[in-house]
Amino acid sequence: MKPYTNETIWQVRNSVLGIYVHFPYCFKKCDYCDFYSEGIGSGPANDELSLFTSYQKEVLERISHFPNIKNKTIDTVFFGGGTPSKASSKLWENFLHFLRSEFDFAKDTEISIEVNPEDLSPTLLDEYARIGINRVNVGVQTRNPIGLEFLGRHYDKEKYDSLLNTLTHSPIKRVGIDLMYGIPGLNESDFFTDLDYFLDAGLPHLSLYSLTLEKGTQYSRDVKDLKKTEPEERIQSEILLTLPELMENKGYHWYEVSNYAKPGFESKHNLKYWTYEPYLGIGPGAHGMIEGHRYGNPRNAILYQKKTPTQKYEVVTPNSELALTLFRLFSPFRYLEFIQTYLDSPSQNHYIQTIHSWKNRGLCTISDGVFQWKKEALLLLDDLVLEISN
Ligand code: SF4
Repeated sequence: MKPYTNETIWQVRNSVLGIYVHFPYCFKKCDYCDFYSEGIGSGPANDELSLFTSYQKEVLERISHFPNIKNKTIDTVFFGGGTPSKASSKLWENFLHFLRSEFDFAKDTEISIEVNPEDLSPTLLDEYARIGINRVNVGVQTRNPIGLEFLGRHYDKEKYDSLLNTLTHSPIKRVGIDLMYGIPGLNESDFFTDLDYFLDAGLPHLSLYSLTLEKGTQYSRDVKDLKKTEPEERIQSEILLTLPELMENKGYHWYEVSNYAKPGFESKHNLKYWTYEPYLGIGPGAHGMIEGHRYGNPRNAILYQKKTPTQKYEVVTPNSELALTLFRLFSPFRYLEFIQTYLDSPSQNHYIQTIHSWKNRGLCTISDGVFQWKKEALLLLDDLVLEISN
């Protein structure tokens, strides 16, 4: 693996805060999706305005519960969903003004939005750049119509054909896409055709992840009723093992199991989840973690707008949780600093012993308090994480 600079060795940071905002509406509910989202067709959501009012109300209530968050600097804001590009830019602009009036923002705060292909256009990106959004991620999944049909995704051929050109001419330079592999009906070469198409254009961020079968989705019901088949696991393992070297040869950092970025283009917001940094979650179905407490909002837009935000806060349990997040990172991190900050001493000992046993088994490197997985750990990752979290 390539050497890393100090900036890409992740460490504990607690003076900053991220804000995630969930916009739950989409053109169509995809069959495999287990996020809280509702398909409503091409028009705007009826309750768009009141939803944004509720976002503001929730921010104020979270501040009144955790007044100290006012002292933190906001270094990431992430508009996710659902399909946040479906909401009007004016409402995102007003909401950003509101956030800036409530919090101090860092000079280089990362402000991201997820965009679906049907909404993407040069005009939209100009508009986003104007209101201060500086990172855009497009949920492509695949360009193959057979794959999109299998996933039950809305497909607008013209939009899929023009999206790369739109992204490469974007006034916003931090752009990325999501691609999925292991979709039944598509083989390895179908996936690599998609991947090459985006690699040739040098997009700075690529999330490459495998299709999973989640309980409660239309896809899982279709599998149960024998209407569809399960994800192609053999293809998934082969692709998973091929990607790290292929992507590194193209100049990308492999910084998380499924995420690759040109140096400096990592998603700062998503890194918060993996490095256990605090974040405020706003909107229906959103989760937050503040001052050692977690909370989750109802997965229902009507209920969310009717009720005051939940006051149910659970104390976080880092002894088991830290492993589930931190060890997804494939870039190096200061493991001693993390475990000394978050864990009690019996757990610190357990973590240190387990990490040393991994080193002896040739699965990771450790030096000067810095940990990094080797590629050999990739297919064993779920079991290794269980080993350390127990
Ligand atoms: S567009 Fe994204 S959030 Fe919406 S249903 Fe599809 S996968 Fe889920």
